[in-house]
Amino acid sequence: MDFDLSPEQELIRDTVRTFARERVEPIAAELDRDGRFPYELVAELAGLGLMGLPIPEEYGGAGGDTLSYAIAIEELTRIDSSGAITVAAHTSLGTMPILLYGTEEQKRRWLPELASGRRLAAFGLTEPDAGSDAGATRTTAELRDGSWIVNGSKLFITNAGTDITWGVTITARTGDDAISNVVVENGTPGYTISSPMKKLGWRASDTRELSFEDCAVPEENLLGERGAGFRQFLEILDGGRISVAAMGVGLAQGAYDLAYAYARERVQFGKPIASFQAITFKLADMATEIEAGRGMVYKAAWLKDAGRPFAREAAMAKLYTGELSNRVANAALQIHGGFGYMDESAISRLYRDQKILEIGEGTNEVQRMVIARHLGL
Ligand SMILES: Cc1cc2nc3c(=O)[nH]c(=O)nc-3n(C[C@H](O)[C@H](O)[C@H](O)COP(=O)(O)OP(=O)(O)OC[C@H]3O[C@@H](n4cnc5c(N)ncnc54)[C@H](O)[C@@H]3O)c2cc1C
Repeated sequence: MDFDLSPEQELIRDTVRTFARERVEPIAAELDRDGRFPYELVAELAGLGLMGLPIPEEYGGAGGDTLSYAIAIEELTRIDSSGAITVAAHTSLGTMPILLYGTEEQKRRWLPELASGRRLAAFGLTEPDAGSDAGATRTTAELRDGSWIVNGSKLFITNAGTDITWGVTITARTGDDAISNVVVENGTPGYTISSPMKKLGWRASDTRELSFEDCAVPEENLLGERGAGFRQFLEILDGGRISVAAMGVGLAQGAYDLAYAYARERVQFGKPIASFQAITFKLADMATEIEAGRGMVYKAAWLKDAGRPFAREAAMAKLYTGELSNRVANAALQIHGGFGYMDESAISRLYRDQKILEIGEGTNEVQRMVIARHLGL
């Protein structure tokens, strides 16, 4: 086995690590406090080729592999989750359906703007009455005179309402037993987007409620075959889980970094608290679990890059790193004592940003359901 990263993967890791430290870290707390979407950072990420990292070069992407992409997301999350989820949702959820299911014409029309990061994409699966049970979609798309007439609503949709959002791929019922994926571009009459939703964490990311009222979408905006939407969104979520799992490792690593530094600097009883075994054991457990989680994420990415089945490993990685990031963020805040509870400490932001990693793209319970299915249960 070869555990070394390739020179390209190392280059991506070092580039994103430097970018996150130099460009994101100085403003992350302010963006979070103000709930401001970081257009300037997205433009810089686009300049680095990071808004279309795993998209082939012929469609305007960087042509990187899934492992490089996971490493980039991990490094971003280590400093700031809002920026990381903006990239991850745009790439894995917004852009991938077009790459995977679009016709050549659709890919040529839409991907270059998205992969270059000039525009952002969203994926709308969740509805008020269809969360974990995503197949319970109520939104409908009825074909009439060459247009899909969309009616319904979507909830908690990332990237849907920024000034540079291009559109959203939604799941909609196109028949009694048929769900299909349909692209709705921003600005389409009948498509309205709520103001940004207020959140516990990921405060500088864009989250919206969408509603469709007799919204007419061109017939050619159907992605893939009519009725294939259920299978398609399951596949999209399988891939997306690798990036959310990478966020779990990145968040845990970031929390560990903060706790490690604080433990060596904070003096109590005449010594740095890092000299107390109760603290060093916590840090040792954190480092051990992070190592295990990273290995799971990299393996799932490696399987995907090798063209092998990866859904089971992606769900396991997502479950494990979601729970791992919870334990690590909690222990890291504990090491900060009362200062960790203050808004001015970075760990308090990471602690708030952590919880969604156990909810988004399938809750912990849903991951266990997926894993159990793969185990034949
Ligand atoms: C910040 C944010 C961003 C998001 N971005 C997007 C996005 O871009 N696109 C999108 O489509 N969605 C998005 N989501 C939605 C997210 O994927 C859902 O919130 C998630 O899938 C859970 O659905 P739910 O919130 O309806 O919870 P529910 O499904 O109502 O679940 C509630 C609880 O019941 C449990 N539960 C449900 N069914 C079972 C069962 N069978 N067995 C055991 N336990 C069960 C769940 O695990 C959970 O603990 C986002 C959510 C948030 C908070």
